[in-house]
Amino acid sequence: MYKYLLFDADNTLFDFTKASAVAFRETLAHYKIEQKEETYPTYLKINNECWASLERGEITPKEIKPLRFKLFLDAINETGNPLEVNDHYLRSLGEKDYLLDGAKELLLELKAQKYSLSIITNGLQLVQRPRIEKAGLTHFFDAITVSEEIGVAKPKPAFFDDTFRQLGQPKIDDVLVIGDNLSSDILGGINIGADTAWFNAKKKINKTEIKPTYEVDGFKALRKLIG
Ligand SMILES: [Mg+2]
Repeated sequence: MYKYLLFDADNTLFDFTKASAVAFRETLAHYKIEQKEETYPTYLKINNECWASLERGEITPKEIKPLRFKLFLDAINETGNPLEVNDHYLRSLGEKDYLLDGAKELLLELKAQKYSLSIITNGLQLVQRPRIEKAGLTHFFDAITVSEEIGVAKPKPAFFDDTFRQLGQPKIDDVLVIGDNLSSDILGGINIGADTAWFNAKKKINKTEIKPTYEVDGFKALRKLIG
């Protein structure tokens, strides 16, 4: 039985897909940038490529902020200060505390049963901290690790050093890593020798070589797995 549950934030507890779309729309409206049907998908594609580079260690968490909006503005032939646009988007995102349905109930139940809960996120400080706070979740967690704050991201083992330090070095057999992303969350868990639960609500096909210990399609299945 696991004692330490390490949760990814975006699209594992928080509805990042919805939050990002709303924050993006607000940001472009603020800068009076015209929004066409393909505008947001263009940004998403560029953003995904940037995060993939980050996971491969090609760029740092700090570099991703201006880079993704520079590439985006270039792609849609707009001018502007990429760092400013990025910061506006992030502030807007930090206000969107949309949790996935059932997330808070799950955390409440697990907390009542004395599980130790942590957040492990490859996110940005400006987004993650205010959002966790606004959702009223900060007190649920014994450890919160935000990649930007420590300068290293999942799946690197060094990322988890921060979490383990905050938790007082738990035994690896007591730890379960839970997340929706195979290349960061699940590979990260595997890299430190922990069991992993792939939170796959969209029932995607795993086309990678990364093999999670478990796969769950929602909070109900996750709850059952934890015991
Ligand atoms: Mg995620």
